[in-house]
Amino acid sequence: MTKAFLSFFLGLTMYTSASGQEFDIFFSNKTLRADYLFTGNKKNQLVVLDELKSFDGWAGRRTHLNELPLDGNGRITMTDKQSGMVIYTTSFSSLFQEWLGEAESEYLSKGYENTFLMPFPKKEAVVTVELFNARREVSTFFSHTVKPDDILIKEIGKSNITPHRYLMGNGPADKCIDVVIMAEGYSKSDIEMFYKDATKACNAIFSHSPFKENKKHFNVIAVASESNDSGVSIPREKIWKSTAVSSHFDTFYSDRYLTSSSVNDIHDLLAGIQYEHIIILANTDTYGGGGIYNSFTLTTAHHSMFEPVVVHEFGHSFGGLADEYAYTEAPSPLYPYDIEPWEQNISTLVDFESKWKDMIDIDNTAIPTKVTKSNNKSTTEIGVYQGAGYSMKGIYRPTPDCRMRTNEAKAFCPVCQRALQRLIDFYVK
Ligand SMILES: [Zn+2]
Repeated sequence: MTKAFLSFFLGLTMYTSASGQEFDIFFSNKTLRADYLFTGNKKNQLVVLDELKSFDGWAGRRTHLNELPLDGNGRITMTDKQSGMVIYTTSFSSLFQEWLGEAESEYLSKGYENTFLMPFPKKEAVVTVELFNARREVSTFFSHTVKPDDILIKEIGKSNITPHRYLMGNGPADKCIDVVIMAEGYSKSDIEMFYKDATKACNAIFSHSPFKENKKHFNVIAVASESNDSGVSIPREKIWKSTAVSSHFDTFYSDRYLTSSSVNDIHDLLAGIQYEHIIILANTDTYGGGGIYNSFTLTTAHHSMFEPVVVHEFGHSFGGLADEYAYTEAPSPLYPYDIEPWEQNISTLVDFESKWKDMIDIDNTAIPTKVTKSNNKSTTEIGVYQGAGYSMKGIYRPTPDCRMRTNEAKAFCPVCQRALQRLIDFYVK
């Protein structure tokens, strides 16, 4: 993007923004689904459009349309073509950008599917996708025009809808946050077990504050997406299965990292269901999982740590929370020490004001705050504890322990709780 275009674009964002009440002026009660491919390598990236689809209903927010829930590693912006007004924006993270932190991306180019839902514009609109690097700079930029009467926008969700059940129904989709829990690696005879696993996941999430206090704002739908095979793929054991969303362990050659690169398939299986946030349960007792902000959570349902892990991963995918654990002396490629991360629960102290500084007595808090024998399991003693975002030095977390740090933690720390509460409010108020 040229500098002149950037300032023109930002100018429009600042001066001509739509207010939340204007949903009906700009949008139909329909969803525009945009399937993109994020491609390239560490040096050069390119975003391209695969296909546009549409289905009835819009389950997403109808307020704060031109505000971002969080900064994220990427951003979608929809502007009304005629006026240049920003009519919808949202943020996300992607597996592709995580992969750019891997050594492999120095010598190999790859493509990753990414699908986003947005309200369906009534008039011609321009959709822009921006990806940011670890230094918070725009690394690639892609724009395309959406014509609402384009005959090639494929209508989906009219038939062959995947069987599903509401586990929690608290109101119409446009008023509530709609979370789907999908089956992966459950064959026909495993489906009743899947519904039990989905109920367990739902109960685990809503036993944690602040979800517990905000139940009335959520709908949870279990989607019985059946697989040919029972179980999921474990490449390091040469096990490959035919499953609903083709997930596998060993993502980036890391044993525990279970993800799916068949993002289009995930969304195809959800066509006709009103959904916003996605949890996928894998029918296996092998430990693992992953959660990507505003993309999906994928976790294993039959490991003894299933419940804390699914809540942790939902902390990533719904809440945009960072990992509060650390295992390396060196800085992670994802979090340079001189850049304040956008995630609300970790800080490099470059801009601590934007984090939990207001929640502590800064003059009487040692930095780093000491973890002692008596407080090492605390999820409530807020300070500035060193070690988070994978690095043992230079990145700080709010409490000794937290759901975003260990499976043994009892709760989300107060900083994570506040961040989650702010997001819930953003989506429903
Ligand atoms: Zn936390």
